[in-house]
Amino acid sequence: MKDKIWLSSPHMGGEELLYIQEAFKENWIAPLGPNVDNFEKDLQNYAQIKSAAALSAGTAALHLALILLDVNAGDEVLCSTFTFSASANPIVYQGAAPVFVESEADTWNMCPQALEDALKDRLQKGKKPKAIILVHLYGQPAKVDEIMAVANRYGVPVIEDAAESLGATYKGQMTGTFGILGVYSFNGNKIITTSGGGALVSADESLIQKARFLATQARDNAPHYQHSAIGYNYRMSNIVAGIGRGQMKVLDERVAQRRKVFAYYQKNFSEIAGISFLEEYKDTFANRWLTTILVDDPKVTREDIRLALNDENIETRPLWKPMHLQPVFEKYPYYGNRLSERLFEKGLCLPSGSNLTEDDLDRVATGVKRLFKA
Ligand SMILES: *Cc1c(COP(=O)(O)O)cnc(C)c1O
Repeated sequence: MKDKIWLSSPHMGGEELLYIQEAFKENWIAPLGPNVDNFEKDLQNYAQIKSAAALSAGTAALHLALILLDVNAGDEVLCSTFTFSASANPIVYQGAAPVFVESEADTWNMCPQALEDALKDRLQKGKKPKAIILVHLYGQPAKVDEIMAVANRYGVPVIEDAAESLGATYKGQMTGTFGILGVYSFNGNKIITTSGGGALVSADESLIQKARFLATQARDNAPHYQHSAIGYNYRMSNIVAGIGRGQMKVLDERVAQRRKVFAYYQKNFSEIAGISFLEEYKDTFANRWLTTILVDDPKVTREDIRLALNDENIETRPLWKPMHLQPVFEKYPYYGNRLSERLFEKGLCLPSGSNLTEDDLDRVATGVKRLFKA
């Protein structure tokens, strides 16, 4: 059996261990410490944003974002339907209801028109949504200006789920820094990883201070343990943040490598009429976290490709199954033209790691091309 080619595997830069060793030397093993503070500074500098809180996961960051925006039982939150379930789960943690909004074809992200339709209809039904969760899927930035214009017109705050788009920009500005709050993820398969982790960022420092407070069990300022709010154990540890510090040094390199992977596939499949790619939309710079293809061919389906590559020990994955089709979310409202259903049916994510070799890429390309030759 040939070596496994993964969809997206961790890729260490080399300096991560130095920061971990430092933490061991100083016995900063316990939660918080200099690596956490410095990782937060690294993130602030990189994203050019005032304030960042390093947390245990992107999901935790989303959950805290909703709490900070006072999302509670009975509230509604608008959310991209074409995403990973972690974008929507925290809405339900709060006892609130997600309202799913369809994507547009240019970026595969939330459609400004569908968002407006949803807002109008929810208002007409008597409820103003408390927040909008805007996802930049696969590292392709959404139509930020158009989305923000609608959100501002209706006075609903935007949380950016930039878990997949760290390093991607819109009009030269980092995704995650447009909304009132932004979320990054450092899970094992993301563009950089701390083994697991996330961050919440904002231009409003008081929100991030409150996030840090809630993430450390909401301890009031007293010598004993005193609580006047329900807290969470959502902080990133000092060891994990050490990995993050090393990874931040190679983030731009990782973006460049992922973009190269995309360019390789695009060039190699340029003669296959049945395969198309998501073009980088104007004014955006995608990090190409995962290269995605749409398969529209009379003879070959995306499942044919997935199974053929699987036989070659190559991991691929269908595009995200939209949230409004998920059994757990079926009962919630949905607005749009069902584009994401077609994307799910025809789309496939190809191996996209920054550590893929020429040989790996060649194996994938050969495996795909073989199917279209017959
Ligand atoms: C990975 C991911 C998350 C969750 O991040 P974790 O760090 O794994 O909790 C949220 N939203 C999207 C779109 C993601 O891809």
